[in-house]
Amino acid sequence: MKEIVFENICKSYGKTQVVKNLNLTIKEGERLIILGPSGCGKSTTLRMIAGLEQPTSGKIYMDGKCVNEVKSGDRNIAMVFQNYALFPHMTVKENIIYGLKAHKIHKDEIEERLNAAVKMLKLEGLEDRKPKDLSGGQRQRVALARAVVKRGDFFLLDEPLSNLDAQLRGHARKELVKIHETYNQTFIYVTHDQVEAMTIGDRVALMNKGDLQMIDTPQNVYNKPTNIFTAKFIGSPSMNIFDVDYKNKFIKLDNQKIELSNSWVELVESNKINELSFGVRPEHVEISSECLPNSFKGIVKYIEDYGNKIGVYFEIEGNEVIALVDDNKFKNGDEIYYKPNFEKIHLFDRETTMSIGYPKEI
Ligand code: ADP
Repeated sequence: MKEIVFENICKSYGKTQVVKNLNLTIKEGERLIILGPSGCGKSTTLRMIAGLEQPTSGKIYMDGKCVNEVKSGDRNIAMVFQNYALFPHMTVKENIIYGLKAHKIHKDEIEERLNAAVKMLKLEGLEDRKPKDLSGGQRQRVALARAVVKRGDFFLLDEPLSNLDAQLRGHARKELVKIHETYNQTFIYVTHDQVEAMTIGDRVALMNKGDLQMIDTPQNVYNKPTNIFTAKFIGSPSMNIFDVDYKNKFIKLDNQKIELSNSWVELVESNKINELSFGVRPEHVEISSECLPNSFKGIVKYIEDYGNKIGVYFEIEGNEVIALVDDNKFKNGDEIYYKPNFEKIHLFDRETTMSIGYPKEI
């Protein structure tokens, strides 16, 4: 099985622990995204798979074997870095096949792999150019081609698209999925960009400060985040989170309260937690200048027009809140009624920041 298993992996640099007791199984042939803010330990995790860093403790298994003592060159990986560093004095073709020549692969096989990669990554006609005569997007495709031709069991990518502009990134995302669908390698992709994570990943592993926060499908990390960090990191603009107190079917925000539906009441009462954080995504609300039943009341502070959506910023009992709506009927200073879609709310234990879960029907 071309799976990768992290067993109690810790990594420290001096006294700083940058990966903390990581237990994780990356399935054979899946596209796993390691996502998280800068400095959370994503690259270090990937580099341990690549054999470029040694764990401080714990074991890594690849293809069923412990690889702690296996050199990088013997791990059957292909890797693409953010700074893909092509050789400037070599042509596109020479750059792509450099690694294969070093591995003493037969020249017919090299030719076949080169042609397939050049075609897949639309580099036809550029084979004899030097990197300085290519655009950023073309150079990045050469770096991908160089990794693709290796046909390793494990395809490791570390922020490979971050040097590209938004349009090229969108295009390259689709190319990466195509590469994976062609070769079905176990694919591990590091990024801080949630759009890449959501669009490329079969599963997303979200890290923060060296800790794995959640690992699940993109749909589940968006719809059912396991803790407040995940809830706020995934989704843009971020989820609104309020500290509320629960009592007798109601959640109370200072002087205002709204009633929870029966299924949420059951869940909250079975958890026996009264001090909650109440989460609502900006896209999951109704707002109105007319009074809405079971809503909070706020004051509009600021309007932002994104073209396709309008962001309405307002304040409820001192909390800054944003709602995303299709059209704007508000101006600064207006009173506004804010009604969450109760099918899409989130409740967290304020003390542990963990989700209390979701009613069965959600
Ligand atoms: P990410 O990829 O999530 O941005 P990294 O895995 O690169 O984060 O780094 C995690 C932490 O480890 C950071 O605080 C970084 O400064 C630190 N770090 C990474 N490599 C080294 C190193 N060789 N020596 C000391 N600290 C390092």
